[in-house]
Formats: sequence, structure tokens, C-alpha cells
Amino acid sequence: MNVKYDFHIHTALSSCALEEMSPNNIVNMALLNELDVIAITDHNSCGNVQSVIAVAKKLGLLVIPGMEVETREEIHVVCLFETVEASKLMQNYVYDSLPKKKNKPSILGRQLLFDAEDNIIAEEERLLSFATTITLEQLIQKTKDLGGVAIPAHIDRPSYSLISNLGFIPPNLPIHCLEISQYAEYNKYIEKYKEHIILQSSDAHELGFIGVCMREFRIPERLKSQLTVKVVLDFLKRIDKV
Ligand SMILES: [Zn+2]
Ligand SMILES: [Zn+2]
Repeated sequence: MNVKYDFHIHTALSSCALEEMSPNNIVNMALLNELDVIAITDHNSCGNVQSVIAVAKKLGLLVIPGMEVETREEIHVVCLFETVEASKLMQNYVYDSLPKKKNKPSILGRQLLFDAEDNIIAEEERLLSFATTITLEQLIQKTKDLGGVAIPAHIDRPSYSLISNLGFIPPNLPIHCLEISQYAEYNKYIEKYKEHIILQSSDAHELGFIGVCMREFRIPERLKSQLTVKVVLDFLKRIDKV
């Protein structure tokens, strides 16, 4: 079975995303584009994940709880979890590692928290789009401890990426997946990083980009009727039983 995915989508909790990025708009756009699974990955927070999942459950879309964490080295890493609870534990860990700065909505944009009816229920006041004090290795380990998967984000980009900031992929880094941006040449990265699963996601900050990469991965046909977050994460963890 081919599973169409987009594992990197921001809601309006990310100040750089448009305010149209609400739970219902995101889920409906993903369904319009016939995606099977999406991940919600706001900067250093999972504050809207639960609301998106509530909408998605009603409409029949699989949503992975996630966030895009910025490490001490200013590397962006998409972290995906099996449960909302695990993503919240990561959020606590990340919040403890963020500088105690306040967002400046008039300059940077608002950081909106929604309920499942797209009502704005709060604005996050802490500045989310900032480097944490967590190192790349610590982040990968913490994600693993919480049962999740850490994926270096948009490695082709000239900033905030593993390759731009370190210059290479450390050979013993315990990761199976690498993400490339929607602008990267997919085949080039498939050829170059044969040891890794190459994922291409939209990094959507506006509705029009959701699902734009049209990428999919294969799982055995017998799992078709029971596609769950665990099945997807097991694939990303390269657990052969999948
Ligand atoms: Zn990023
Ligand atoms: Zn992003």
C-alpha cells in the first residue's frame, strides 16, 4: 500500500505561518490533496496538535503529533511521536530549554492556539521561534526515549539545517531519516544518501503548500485497513516487522 504523507506542516502557532493555518483548514486541505497522513510540526511547541487530531478523527485523516525543534546548533529537527502525551513531554523539555523571551506579535506575528472549531483560545506569549539550549545529540536521544523519531529538517537549505550548520552528517548519528525541502531534487538525495530514508515534505506555512510534494512510502498491503501512527513510526524507525 502506498501512503501519501506530508510530515512537516505548521499551524498559526508558528509566528511565521499564516493565520489561515487552523485545524479545520489544514485537515480539509490535506484531504483535498488526498493525503493519508500528516504531521503537525510547529516551532518548539505542540500546542495545536490535539485540536488538529480532534478534527482529523472526525474527518478520517491520520495526524502524527510532532514539533520542529531548533537545537543549540540552530539545526531544525522534526520530531514525531506516537502519542500527544509524548509530544507534551517533549514540549515541557523544550520549554525548559528556551530563553525566557516574549514574542513580539506586532513584528514577528501572533502565535495562535486553536480549539477544534478553529476558535482562537489563546496566544502563546513565549517566543517559540528561537534556538533551544538542547544539543542535536541530546534532542535525538530525548526523542528516542519518548518513543519518537527525530528527522533532521530541510537538509538542503542554506540555513537552520544539519548540513548547512555542521557541513556533513556525523557518521554515527543515530538517525534513519533525512528530510529535504519541497524545492530539493528528490532523486539526487535518494542517490546520495542510500543509507537513509529520504522524506520530502512541504514545510507548509500556508494552506496552498500542504501536500505539494506528493510523496509516498510503501507499507505491506495487510496494514492497509489499520494504518496507525505506530505503523508509520515503525516504518520510519525501520522496524522490519512493519
Ligand atoms: Zn525549519
Ligand atoms: Zn518548518
